[in-house]
Amino acid sequence: MARFDNLIGGEWVEGAGTTANVNPSDIEDIVGDYASSDASAVDAAVEAARAAFPAWAGASPQVRHDVLEAAGAKIMARKDELGRLLSREEGKTLAEGTGEVIRAAQIFKFFAGEALRPGGEALPSVRPGIEVLIEREAVGVVGLITPWNFPIAIPAWKAAPALAFGNCVVMKPAELTPGCAWEIANILKESGCPDGVFNLVLGPGSRIGARMVEHPGIDAISFTGSVPTGRRIGVQCVETGKKVQLEMGGKNPMVVLDDADLGVAVAASLNGAFFSTGQRCTASSRLIVTAGIHDAFVEKLTADAAALKVGDALDPETQIGPVVNQDQLDQNLAYVALAKEEGCEVSGGDIANGPGYFQRPAVFAGADNTMRVSREEIFGPAASVIKVADYDEALAIANDTEFGLSSGICTTSLKHASHFRRHAEAGMVMVNLPTAGVDYHVPFGGRKGSSYGPREQGTYAREFYTQVKTTYVAP
Ligand code: NDP
Repeated sequence: MARFDNLIGGEWVEGAGTTANVNPSDIEDIVGDYASSDASAVDAAVEAARAAFPAWAGASPQVRHDVLEAAGAKIMARKDELGRLLSREEGKTLAEGTGEVIRAAQIFKFFAGEALRPGGEALPSVRPGIEVLIEREAVGVVGLITPWNFPIAIPAWKAAPALAFGNCVVMKPAELTPGCAWEIANILKESGCPDGVFNLVLGPGSRIGARMVEHPGIDAISFTGSVPTGRRIGVQCVETGKKVQLEMGGKNPMVVLDDADLGVAVAASLNGAFFSTGQRCTASSRLIVTAGIHDAFVEKLTADAAALKVGDALDPETQIGPVVNQDQLDQNLAYVALAKEEGCEVSGGDIANGPGYFQRPAVFAGADNTMRVSREEIFGPAASVIKVADYDEALAIANDTEFGLSSGICTTSLKHASHFRRHAEAGMVMVNLPTAGVDYHVPFGGRKGSSYGPREQGTYAREFYTQVKTTYVAP
């Protein structure tokens, strides 16, 4: 069995032990043995990153551009192989896995360009003869903690801007899906990233992530994952004086109005709720449907969901891959049971037989917005359908949540689409599109309990990965 180590100071370094990376489509299939490190690996990685920081932050932007451009090109050239790895370790279908790899390549290429555009301004002072310069500088050593559900895109969209703006990185990917992050580390090394600039430490969050958050040598933490872990990390970062950015959960609404095109509404809901096995923070888990279209919508959604082919992620026919592991499957099944207890009419949601963690998509019809299944992030292939009288009620219910990541509406009314765009309490709004599925060159992030700190991706990523210095110059 192949063994995959940490990357610390440009060297591959063994962990204290290893953890098997298991294919959720076939739990007999082991992708590889990945380092399971102890906290001392974080200390070594931080030391290497601090040592590398002055030269990297001071390097010509061309140097940083060239590393990121080369990494993007290498990822793109290996998209099929890496897409397969992603599908094998996480369970996304091959099409989804390959698409995510392409996106990671595009992100590296985008931030190669951003390395040349750090931003800044020169202004006249209000005092005669004095100039004011506003410049952006690297933050220092940044700790990147990533979840399992986007094993290459999220590491890419944190690492690429961090490196572009001159920061050094210590990355800890989710223990469930370390393979793609390991490949990013290897590709950055092959692309000429200097020793110590990008460090990868593999192991559990309770050991590795926790040490990163408390480490005085780390200046900033960017985290994506669950709400409880994120909130805890946020508090610890404030206590230890770190800059922090948190991307957490969602309970994203998709509003369907009477005037919607039924085909568009069902396709958007099906995609948003069930594709990627519902394991997306932007998944549509509350389908809020006005009375006139409700019954036709439920009938078509239920039929189309039941027709989706659930199976091995590596089978090109598969539309819904497995749930990521047994714990997540148990959690999903508990929510299916809860939906029944709470009075929903449940279709699907049962286990589909096979050598992996297969579950059919679940529609919770007859739900209301007070039920736990409509308020808590399930993170599986399940969606509540909530019937409402009209647009005003739909909007009120859409916003009645502690989260605010993505919010969608299907309608042919410009008036309602425009009103919804302005009044949805979410960081992202989708009109006649699934709530999930975003571009790589524009900001990503939410409001309320979903996000904390500056936006990720696009030119907005600069806000987190740089710090501002204002200089006054007298003649
Ligand atoms: P977590 O929030 O626990 O994990 C996210 C990342 O944080 C992982 O790398 C994890 O490491 C790390 N981590 C865990 N504990 C700590 C800690 N004390 N200090 C620092 N880092 C830590 O989410 P899970 O993966 O356990 O998933 C649990 C639930 O979270 C899911 O069922 C889902 O509901 C939600 N989730 C939401 C995501 C989103 O994008 N909104 C993404 C992933 C999960 P490791 O996993 O290696 O232990």
